[in-house]
Formats: sequence, C-alpha cells, structure tokens
Amino acid sequence: MSLNTKVLEIRQRQRIKPTPLDMPSAVWTGKDHVDGNVENTLTMIFRTSGCWWGKVGGCTMCGYVYDSAHTSPSAEDIVSQFRKAMGKASKFDRFMVKIFTSGSFLDEKEVPVDALSKILSLLEEDDRVFKVVVESRPEFLTEESMEFCLASLKSTLLEVAIGLETSSDLIRKRSINKGFTFRDFVRAAEVAKSNGVAVKTYLMLKPPFISEKQALEDIIASVREVSVYSGVISINLCNVQKGTLIEYLWERGEYRPPWLWSIVDILKRTKQEFPHLIITSDPVGAGAKRGPRNCKECSGEVADAIRAFSLSQDLHDLEGLECDCRSLWEKVLVLDDLSFGSPILE
Ligand code: SF4
Ligand SMILES: [Zn+2]
Repeated sequence: MSLNTKVLEIRQRQRIKPTPLDMPSAVWTGKDHVDGNVENTLTMIFRTSGCWWGKVGGCTMCGYVYDSAHTSPSAEDIVSQFRKAMGKASKFDRFMVKIFTSGSFLDEKEVPVDALSKILSLLEEDDRVFKVVVESRPEFLTEESMEFCLASLKSTLLEVAIGLETSSDLIRKRSINKGFTFRDFVRAAEVAKSNGVAVKTYLMLKPPFISEKQALEDIIASVREVSVYSGVISINLCNVQKGTLIEYLWERGEYRPPWLWSIVDILKRTKQEFPHLIITSDPVGAGAKRGPRNCKECSGEVADAIRAFSLSQDLHDLEGLECDCRSLWEKVLVLDDLSFGSPILE
C-alpha cells in the first residue's frame, strides 16, 4: 500500500461538519518579527473548499483539511469572511495581515479570482496594513498569479509563504507525502523574487519514520539550502493532529513529537550560521501529550524562550535554559538512531 493510499484511507473515515460559509475558520492577533521590528499581526484562516492535495490523500501530519467547508464558498462568502476577520484588528493603527486557507490562497478553486482581487484591493486601500503574507503550494505561484496579485497590491508589501517542510526530496516524499519537489519550490521562489515578492518558508521538525537526530540534522541542512531563496524561515514542530497518519502511528507508540531541546539547538546553530535570516518557531501545543515537549517541569519555560527568540531574533533569549531532562534528550539523540523503527517513548 502506498503512503498516499494509507493517508487517504484515514481521511475517508473523517466527517466534515457543516459550518457557515461566510465565517472564517479562525482569526487571531499577535506579534511577529518583521524586517527588524516587532509588529502587530492579524492572522486569518479562510474556510474554503480545501487543499486539493489534502483531498486526494495529502500530507501525513495534516489535519487542516478537516477545517474545510462542506461545499464551496462563493466569492462573496470569502470576501465576507475577510471583512469579519478584519474587524479583529480594530485596535491596531499598523499591522501585517497573514492569510491562510488550510490550503492555497492562490488556488482559484479555493479562492475565486474575484474574491482574491477584491481582498487584495481592500488591503491596499487600508493605510494601516503595511504587509500581506499569503500561503500557497508552489504550483500556484506563477508569473500570472504574481502579476494578478501585484495589480491590486501596489504599495503594500507582499510575501508568499510556502510549506516546503524539508529540502530533502526523500523525506518530503517518503515521510510527509507532500506531492512536490525541492525543484518545484525553487522555481516558485524564483518567480516570486523576480516579481519583487518576498518568500517565507515553512519547515517541519520531525515527520514520521525518522529519528530525533535525523530530524534535527535535516532541519539544519534545510535551513542552509533554503537560505538562498528565502529571507524568513519558520520551523513548525510536528504535533499530533486528529485524523492523520501521524495520529495513527502515535496511538500505536510509533511516533513521538520532537523534543523542545531539538528546536533550541536548531535555532542556536542556524542563527549563528545565518545571522541575517529571520528564523522563527511557534511551539504550538508545547508540553501537551500531542505536542512537542521536554519534561513536565521545563516545557513551559523552554517554549516561552523559543517564542521570545522568535520575536527578538536575539540568541540571548535561548541562554541559561537548564533541566535534568536535557541529558535524557542527549541520550535519545544517540539511542533513537540505534532503535530505528521503535522510537524511545517516556
Ligand atoms: S499541502 Fe498543506 S494543507 Fe495540503 S495536505 Fe499538505 S499540509 Fe495539508
Ligand atoms: Zn525538563
């Protein structure tokens, strides 16, 4: 059985609940490090028909596909989702907007062109918005889509975020089932760059079927390879989402989310090597059973340090972190390689 067939089989057991088509899946405000400053951000996740790749199987860790709408929202529905989301930023006089769809904002099947141009025009007209980040798979990042976006966004900066996950084609294919290659990412990044559009890249620490040490070194290698194409790298820490292959493995004791010590080590090493790059990580679900974690005593403190570093880009924020479990993590790095196929669990 292929990896995609297994993921699809798990997906087909899930049900998508009917939800209003004019309400976004989620909206929240926060802060990000943007071009040397800490800025307010408004993040919105549109409810669309969903990621095409997720619907035919898709990525082994992705439960976002279950946030999609039970039927395709119209262009008006999507614009209405946008207007509702913007209401959350009423307290800001300057902010960056981050748009996700649990798929690709640039896929016309998810976001009709009328909705896309209307949303970008409204953002251009809003003097408070200085930058817009939209997420897309690389196949939708073309000369045409970039020109179309830039026709609406004239003086507002545009950044496209691509979920590459790793620069290794082998890991992306065999552990993640992402459905595109590093070459596809490079092509998309070059198209963005030639249109004056910035690129943000998402990597993912610890997909299934590899050891903690292999996962750690894969991200270090990926940052090196991606640094040529992307000014911002955000490292997601794999967590166990419902209805995914990762959950299937985790329930059988065959998967453990990454240690927080691993991302601390990655951030220190990569930031030292590439001081000009913005390298961030948001340890979502840190300390939880399904999330990235150390021991119960230090997970909260270490996660806070990771968040602080992501905002400041100052390595001092990662100094002085100590806990007895650090020596256990060091042993796991050695032993997990030797026990390949049966991860070391607490
Ligand atoms: S491409 Fe993104 S949204 Fe689609 S299945 Fe993969 S992780 Fe999920
Ligand atoms: Zn600890």
